[in-house]
Amino acid sequence: MPTRVIVLGGGVAGMSAAHELIERGFEVVVLEWRDIAGGKARSIPVIDDGTGTSGHERADTGTKSIQHRLPGEHGFRFFPGFYKHVIDTMRRTPSFDGRQASDHLMPTTRVGFTQYGKPTFLIPSIFPQKPADAGTLLRDILLTFSPVIDLTPDDLALFGARFWQILTSCEERRIGEYERVGWWDFIGAEGRSAAYQKFLAAGFTRSLVAAKARKASARTVGDMFEQMMFTFLNPTEGATDRLLDGPTNFVWIDPWLSYLESKGVRYLRDMKIEQIFCDKVRITGVGVRHGKRRTVFYGDHYVAALPLERIAPLVNHQMLYADPKLADLRVLAPNVEWMNGLQFYLRRDLPIAHGHVIHIDTEWALTSVSQVQFWRSMPPADFGDSDVRGVISVDVSDWDDPGSNGRPAMQCTREEVMREVWKQLKRSINFDRELLRDEDLHSWFLDPDIHASRAYPRFLHNAEPLLVNLIDTWKLRPDATTAIPNLFLASDYVRTHTDLATMEGANEAARRAVNGLLDAVKFTGPRCEVWPLQAPEVLAPWRLHDAARYRAELPWDDSLMQVAAQAIRGASPLLEQARPLLEKATPFVNLAAEVLEATDMAASAVSDRPGFDPRIALGSVDLSGPEPEQMMAGVLPRAGAMPLSGAVPLAGEAPFAGEAVGPTGFLERLSWYRYMLTDTLVGGIPTREPQRYLYGLVKDFVVRSGKGLRPALCIATARALGGRTEDAFPVAAGIEMLHNAFLVHDDIEDGSDSRRGAVTMHRRVGIPIAVNTGDAMNALAMRFFRKSVEPLGPAAALRILDEVDHMLLQSLEGQATELGWVRDNDLTVGTDDYLRLVLKKTAWYSFIHPMRIGALVANADDQNLDRFDRFGFLLGVAFQITDDVLNLVGDVGRYGKEIDGDLWEGKRTIVLAHALGHADQADRAWMASFLARPRERRLPREVLRLHQILARSGSIDWAQQSAATFAEAAAREFQGCAFAGVPESPDLNWLRGCVDFLVQRDA
Ligand SMILES: Cc1cc2nc3c(=O)[nH]c(=O)nc-3n(C[C@H](O)[C@H](O)[C@H](O)COP(=O)(O)OP(=O)(O)OC[C@H]3O[C@@H](n4cnc5c(N)ncnc54)[C@H](O)[C@@H]3O)c2cc1C
Repeated sequence: MPTRVIVLGGGVAGMSAAHELIERGFEVVVLEWRDIAGGKARSIPVIDDGTGTSGHERADTGTKSIQHRLPGEHGFRFFPGFYKHVIDTMRRTPSFDGRQASDHLMPTTRVGFTQYGKPTFLIPSIFPQKPADAGTLLRDILLTFSPVIDLTPDDLALFGARFWQILTSCEERRIGEYERVGWWDFIGAEGRSAAYQKFLAAGFTRSLVAAKARKASARTVGDMFEQMMFTFLNPTEGATDRLLDGPTNFVWIDPWLSYLESKGVRYLRDMKIEQIFCDKVRITGVGVRHGKRRTVFYGDHYVAALPLERIAPLVNHQMLYADPKLADLRVLAPNVEWMNGLQFYLRRDLPIAHGHVIHIDTEWALTSVSQVQFWRSMPPADFGDSDVRGVISVDVSDWDDPGSNGRPAMQCTREEVMREVWKQLKRSINFDRELLRDEDLHSWFLDPDIHASRAYPRFLHNAEPLLVNLIDTWKLRPDATTAIPNLFLASDYVRTHTDLATMEGANEAARRAVNGLLDAVKFTGPRCEVWPLQAPEVLAPWRLHDAARYRAELPWDDSLMQVAAQAIRGASPLLEQARPLLEKATPFVNLAAEVLEATDMAASAVSDRPGFDPRIALGSVDLSGPEPEQMMAGVLPRAGAMPLSGAVPLAGEAPFAGEAVGPTGFLERLSWYRYMLTDTLVGGIPTREPQRYLYGLVKDFVVRSGKGLRPALCIATARALGGRTEDAFPVAAGIEMLHNAFLVHDDIEDGSDSRRGAVTMHRRVGIPIAVNTGDAMNALAMRFFRKSVEPLGPAAALRILDEVDHMLLQSLEGQATELGWVRDNDLTVGTDDYLRLVLKKTAWYSFIHPMRIGALVANADDQNLDRFDRFGFLLGVAFQITDDVLNLVGDVGRYGKEIDGDLWEGKRTIVLAHALGHADQADRAWMASFLARPRERRLPREVLRLHQILARSGSIDWAQQSAATFAEAAAREFQGCAFAGVPESPDLNWLRGCVDFLVQRDA
């Protein structure tokens, strides 16, 4: 039986992986969210809404009949001459006309540059074929350039020197040094002429998929520049740049898909991957939403070809357990920028340049291609748009800087974006003649990924940003093979030779992923070919020389400059004219070395600085923890009031396992409970208006990944005691919704800045809207509770409402007590006050009531609900103390809230209570004055000092020890009372596992 591979995502990477796998006899299923194949490379069908320049309408999945006319593009596609991987795949892809997809690539002959108020100038993008061409090449590039673009000989010399440095640097230096410097700094753009900054710093990076000169690493930009220059200078390659001869899907993606399907690939559309299941060793399935249905797909191996910002949130604890390095994806995920396409359909063709054009002065970093001149396979008349004669396809790469209308594109409407882009284009192209005229504009199409943001009024939202290579991020990029033996990564963020988010990078990543998979299954056939970037042999001695220097910790050798001039002259007579350039460069080269050394020194100075590690600062302290019984005195009724063991009322003879047994790993099962609940939870949020100011915010908050511990406790208890899973859904959803309401209000009361790894709601939308949203969550929670009447009947529903009533009041009383302590700066709070507070504020609603309510779902007559109280309390205390400690010593990325946030708030945690009782007199006096001030009047260094006092007085360690002691007591209570006599089941096992999980977690 062939090995079954599930490919997650059907863009260039996913399709490339499917291609390689199906040709090697694997069973391949591709799961793609959208209804169009190709990912970011796709074309998008559009329909003309008949209103002329008001724009095409997207034919989305909901539209039944698609009027198939000139398609839009997510962004225009160019294929530089150095691309090898994606081209190889295209050579192996039959196109609809009997040729290969690669035959649809058209070489371009020019790259155009436009400036405001200056004529467009063109440089050849093809290697000269005649001696006469050769003679004028450098003049074209360097000299003819100069008067138009104001570059001085010094500018050119400096740039040449930097380029030479890149060429002769070894790989190790590129990674070790140039990766940590921005292109802007590397080429010394600061303080140079405006022309230097515009053309040599920003101009080149702009043509590299949304890269920004100040942020992109010198290594990536330098590598790409080198590749482009070599294809430019190497006659055997022919072209630097290629474009397709028709809309992307027509001439490439659709024939490709049809080829893959003909070979047996199952490419399933409208499949949104929502979850990846893992048993801490292997991937065990993927949870997928298809329309309104949820399904799990199983395979032997999984190739994740999802974009970075989509895979990162799917990485869960179980996966991190199996491969901790996957955590880097979350760190890397914010490295995305906006780059999106906009097409103008014209009544007459306007071929500005035979290639792509960089509109260098445009505020929004526009580049464009006039497409119809290349579309020999698809003249526009074929689409029925008889009056459209030309198409200008524009990529908009800067959405943050203001346009001529004073606003960044992100803060415009779609229509305003179109108008402003049109204006910037006209200003760029219409130098002495009006080439681009309003009356020629037939219609326009803006990438539908760009739409009005629900969460941020007045802002646009982009559903598909693009990874950019920021400085020093290579170390975060993962390899295609992971430590999870059946998971492989294939997308444009994976480590590749190409090292740039492009179709070439995506294809190379897919090949690497497939090779990893082939190794894993010990495949005996050939591996996918992977090519390194072209490194000209003539420069090998210089690179070797530099490698030796790098190992000896010496800077790059500028004395090579003269030798280099000779060598380059030998390598290509075309560069004869470069000699004076290189000679001029020497002084700047020294400067480059200094800049790099300074950067290195600064970096090592930072890493040498001793970090503050409270665990190290603790020194020796008394670690003996308190006895939980002792600490509980007076907090809860004595144990005698509750049965310690005995028969537990069950709904049926045996626990009802439901239609699914579910996974066994603790975290996996926790996600599974949450996953099952999602439909009910989200389904209970109204879809009517107001979305932007209310229900959209509720949904946004609820779906952001909380752990879902409380509803899980409820569902697990119900199942363990023989209840039906679905019967627990309404009440579990109510508990979760209530919890979310508390969080929104809590954040306001505490003045917190971050929650679940994002900015808190009130910081985002303001306090009035956040308060109101929290109230709405409360109301929605009540609706859920009332709904329990349907599956459970009125008597059970009434008992549940009694439980909810108690849960609410207890929590609010607890919250009030704590807020009062903070407001009145109560310094008498001791550890038993703290425990009483935890019972009220946390234990009832987080632990005790979810279990009590779960038991009612299983048996509406259960008269012994109190058996959960002691267990829930002990668990709650262990949980809360762990939380208090994590707030002091956790990792902010994993913990999700701000570290030391409790200190900023002056919260009476057990750590603080302990320190108030144990610190010396001076420290206590200082603490009193610190705590007396409001949050805004506390300083970072004071918070640090408080942290040090807590550490010095042994309070943090003591608290950790206490949490462990409480956890032990909870485990005893679980077995001896709360769940005594309950038959073994995966749910019971999971409930037992809560104890360890809650105290051993790090987030
Ligand atoms: C405007 C623009 C212009 C560009 N121009 C060029 C160019 O000229 N030349 C070049 O080489 N590169 C260009 N690029 C970059 C190039 O398009 C991308 O790097 C490349 O297409 C990435 O391919 P991928 O398969 O890794 O990711 P994607 O193309 O992002 O594919 C991922 C797929 O996964 C799907 N998906 C996402 N989430 C889920 C989910 N939860 N469940 C199921 N499926 C999901 C997506 O729908 C998508 O189909 C451009 C990019 C942009 C944005």
